[in-house]
Amino acid sequence: MELIDSHIHLDDDRFNSDRAELVKSAQTAGISRFIVPAVSVNRFPAVLKTAKEYDSVSYTLGLHPYYINEHSGTDLEFLAQSLHGSGAVGVGECGLDYYLKDLDRDKQKLVFEAQVVLAKHFNLPLVLHVRGAIDEVFKTLKKHNYFNAMMHSFNGSVEQAKQIIAKGVYLGFGPAVCNPNAHKLKKLIEYVPIECMVLETDAPDQPFFDKSGQRNLPIDLLRVNQDIAAIKKVKPMILAEQTTTNVNQLFNL
Ligand SMILES: [Zn+2]
Repeated sequence: MELIDSHIHLDDDRFNSDRAELVKSAQTAGISRFIVPAVSVNRFPAVLKTAKEYDSVSYTLGLHPYYINEHSGTDLEFLAQSLHGSGAVGVGECGLDYYLKDLDRDKQKLVFEAQVVLAKHFNLPLVLHVRGAIDEVFKTLKKHNYFNAMMHSFNGSVEQAKQIIAKGVYLGFGPAVCNPNAHKLKKLIEYVPIECMVLETDAPDQPFFDKSGQRNLPIDLLRVNQDIAAIKKVKPMILAEQTTTNVNQLFNL
């Protein structure tokens, strides 16, 4: 069985003490590739270093809305330069976060839209972080007629999912799916065809409901695959195969 983690922060300092070991055990279990998104220019060096150290790592470069107060116009220029001939397979993590009230929405929109333009220019897929702003993000994609993208940790309505996947945008699902109380998310997954899905751990960031306070790990992708396969009533092998194909297609691997 082969799996690809479409969204994992392997560069995170919380993996500094055991990264090699964790990558190795995940690979042994069949996780063949890790897509690592950068979140701000000061993380670019760590992401590039991780990609250099591990053949199994592909990376994307972007400016995350969560760090909107840190980003500047110079950062956007630096991102554009860095994308040029860098080996990055996508633009992101970028998007809109309307969940946290102290993140300036107007600045978020400016920085996000600039990255949509860059992605389109370089013909690279967008790795989208969207919280409380699915319609707004989708509107921006429509404005630029650019749908080469995945929305990571998607948690919208069936109606929203329907419109988004109709445009060819992939939806990412991760550890939240494994929570027995995630009824709405499970219903949504019942609806989304596996041809439109990618799997992720978002490690170390999204602890499983039964491991609160702990890092989640690269190998936890197996559990995500298992639980989504159960919801979709397909063999884990089939889901792994299809979502691997999806990630390869999206990131042109
Ligand atoms: Zn992330």
